[in-house]
Amino acid sequence: SETLLSVRDLEVGYKVGDRVIHAVDGASFDVPRGTIVGLVGESGCGKTTVARALTRVIADNAKITGGEIVFDGRNIAALPEREMNRLRWRDIAFIPQSAMNSLDPVYTIEYQLNEVLKNRGGMDARRARARAEELFDMVGIEPGRLRDFPHQFSGGMRQRVAIALALALDPKLIIADEPVTALDVIVQRQILDQLRELQSRLGISVILVTHDISVVAYVCDRVVVMYAGRVVEAGPMAATITAPAHPYTIGLRNAFPDLKGAATGMLVPIEGAPPSLVEPPPGCRFAPRCPFALDICRTEVPQTGARSNGHSAACHRAHEAEMLRTEGSKTET
Ligand code: ATP
Repeated sequence: SETLLSVRDLEVGYKVGDRVIHAVDGASFDVPRGTIVGLVGESGCGKTTVARALTRVIADNAKITGGEIVFDGRNIAALPEREMNRLRWRDIAFIPQSAMNSLDPVYTIEYQLNEVLKNRGGMDARRARARAEELFDMVGIEPGRLRDFPHQFSGGMRQRVAIALALALDPKLIIADEPVTALDVIVQRQILDQLRELQSRLGISVILVTHDISVVAYVCDRVVVMYAGRVVEAGPMAATITAPAHPYTIGLRNAFPDLKGAATGMLVPIEGAPPSLVEPPPGCRFAPRCPFALDICRTEVPQTGARSNGHSAACHRAHEAEMLRTEGSKTET
């Protein structure tokens, strides 16, 4: 099928004492084959929890309590751990947040690549060496540097190494959590260009988790916007970023500079902070911060409504989006 991954009504909770933090509360979205999908939202909206749930590498106090994760036709939310483990690296590779700092300082890069190539991929020393060189070549690092230690690489280079590691066993899907966050804008662009080039050359899919909507605008084909554990808007990148239908997406767009350096309007952060996920507000979870909220928004959960071409939004006022966008930019100036 055209869809590689389909997430349906996913629920993930963290148990803390006798309370449960509903970090992901009914999230649904699709990842078509051969695309880069941006998962975007402020810190604490549940992006990392979704990303980790997809590989089932979750914290000890975390539990997937509902929904389906259909990957390549199989619901991996229900897969026995032994089978799930076989999928990791080979089918789904995960680049964790600050991967570039999680490389072990006492081992060479080659040693760390070998862990995956030999132990996971079953390659002998000769094949592993050839593959390691090939991978370095793919991410634009001189293969002679395989014997270097992590500290001998810059932040951007280490992020390339993390990408090489993820590509090691030729996965169908790479999930990258904030892959360019700590880097300066020029290096960000280089890494994103590289990721795009590899993605299209290899025909794989990528889920790129980021708090920065300008990263999404720069490199993604589709965008999924999360707020307080739910997907509030999703759609093709251009349509969704140029004509967002959810006030949260409008807010995100107005809060970030453009990675291409093009002139944008005034940057206005969204007032307030995401709600507690122990007892989230009723109705639309964004209502307490939304400049356009009506009474209904505080009581009734907005259903996800289809717009055009795979663009959808969960907002009671989505039909007035054009007016809200204009109003939104008036309040900025
Ligand atoms: P960030 O970019 O800061 O990681 P995020 O959007 O990825 O943010 P998550 O890290 O998924 O969000 O966190 C979602 C919610 O789950 C937050 O309220 C967070 O405090 C909570 N959470 C995350 N990890 C744990 C954990 N191990 N135990 C308890 N709560 C957690």
